[in-house]
Amino acid sequence: MTQQADVVVIGGGPGGYEAAIRAAQLGLSVICIERRIHKGKPSLGGTCLNVGCIPSKALLDSSHKYHDLKAGYASHGISTGDIGLDVGAMLARKDKVVDQLTGGIAQLLKGNGITWLQGSGKLLAGKRVEFTPHEGEVQIIEAKSVILASGSKPIEIPAAPLVDGIVVDSTGALEFPEVPKRMGVIGAGVIGLELGSVWSRLGADVVVLEALDQFLAVADRAISKETQKILGKQGLDIRLGARVTATRIEGAQVVVTYTDAQGEHSETFDKLIVAVGRRPVTTGLLSADSGISLDERGFVHVDAQCRASVPGVFAIGDLVRGPMLAHKAMEEGVMAAELIANHHAQFNYDLVISVIYTHPEVAWVGMSEERAKAEGFDVKSGQFAFAVNGRALAADDNQGFVKFVADAKTDRLLGMHVIGPSAGDIIHQGLIAMEFGASVEDLQLMCFAHPTLSEVVHEAALSVDGRAIHAIQRKRK
Ligand code: FAD
Ligand code: NAD
Repeated sequence: MTQQADVVVIGGGPGGYEAAIRAAQLGLSVICIERRIHKGKPSLGGTCLNVGCIPSKALLDSSHKYHDLKAGYASHGISTGDIGLDVGAMLARKDKVVDQLTGGIAQLLKGNGITWLQGSGKLLAGKRVEFTPHEGEVQIIEAKSVILASGSKPIEIPAAPLVDGIVVDSTGALEFPEVPKRMGVIGAGVIGLELGSVWSRLGADVVVLEALDQFLAVADRAISKETQKILGKQGLDIRLGARVTATRIEGAQVVVTYTDAQGEHSETFDKLIVAVGRRPVTTGLLSADSGISLDERGFVHVDAQCRASVPGVFAIGDLVRGPMLAHKAMEEGVMAAELIANHHAQFNYDLVISVIYTHPEVAWVGMSEERAKAEGFDVKSGQFAFAVNGRALAADDNQGFVKFVADAKTDRLLGMHVIGPSAGDIIHQGLIAMEFGASVEDLQLMCFAHPTLSEVVHEAALSVDGRAIHAIQRKRK
């Protein structure tokens, strides 16, 4: 049987489903193929909604509440009794949030007249797509345009093969039925820090083994130093320059051997999370004669507007170069749909926000001070702490700071970096400012509401020129 569609999207994650919705809004007939079965049911929303952003944030929020309550609210004059922990109920709440959101995406596709085909899609030559349903016969769809959005999966390393329930990837780490006494994490990246924090807050002793000598090498140095300090104080035992050479199962535990500058060590854990990055999913996606080329790292090769090597075929999200982030996938999906409908569309890759949802949160957009200097800018920078911010103090949540990096010649903002309460939201002020080409002075001249966390943004902008009010700074201009 042959079907036809203006657009076939392969993959119903944040990239794919947003592409499908935008294409339908633009009057195109759209088929979205998604094969995921989550907890026994076909499910849209990809990694992000099923086993990524959303369930991890549900557990981060639950574990944060538990940790706060346990640490006590005595300073607020609030006393609590014995604090209980029901991990099963916590996981069930997370599953409910996931169900609600994935169900919502199915409604959105239906409401937009998009056909969701449940099974696997493969791109053939000539923009034909082979659809293999979970049950039933293979079908061929003739598409005018195709959007490849098959996402990514965790990287596995030979030194630590997965062992059901003991050595797990990020998906397994969302499902521990009880709090491990001692937990290891390989990789101090975003997943390692977020999921390490979840289980540490719930009571596990957590050791994080990171191969690089530098912590959070992608972040501004001031931010990575502060993050390491704060997370260390919270109890995450982060060991840098640690290369895992082998793991072996002993009973219900795993023994990890690693080397660092001091030599060889071994540690025994009840659970081990392997979180060393993700790689694109291309297996089974492309026929040998599809004409689509991959780059040297296995990503589908695309131009700056996500056009793949066959006219009319686009590829987006984790499947292509750039940061593996849901919001990046979403905007690329919208861009691809608009280009297919002959609209003008573009994406500013220089301003993709990064957020780490630890507590405090860590977020940045634009250039770090180190990168701006390496790119030849004459850099000026300033930072201001939440420690003296009225709102942060009132909430007893006042760690961290806001930092701006700017071009000393033109005063243009180049980067904003935050560690602190609600950093993931506050950072959007920098995004908007930089998208509009703001100068530091533009921010200095604005009136920020009092008392708010955002006043730290204002003060950080003032501090770039040595004129923050709530700090002893000698005015330089
Ligand atoms: P995916 O979400 O991976 O979706 C691709 C879909 O395609 C999958 O559902 C897959 O089943 C389907 N598929 C693959 N091949 C085929 C085929 N041949 N036929 C049919 N279907 C196919 N990002 C953030 O921005 N913020 C966060 O807080 C965040 N937290 C995360 C936490 C964790 C634990 C993890 C693992 C990731 C997190 N991410 C986060 C990353 C984010 O989930 C991804 O960047 C995002 O999901 C990528 O979207 P995508 O649409 O490209 O791919
Ligand atoms: P990552 O790239 O963020 O971090 C992986 C870390 O593992 C790096 O620090 C790397 O140096 C280290 N590493 C690699 N190989 C190692 C080894 N053999 N031994 C020890 N350390 C090793 O990857 P991740 O944490 O797995 O996350 C995967 C993707 O998911 C990322 O691209 C991230 O953007 C995305 N994600 C985003 C969020 C968020 O936006 N808040 C949350 C979770 C995941």
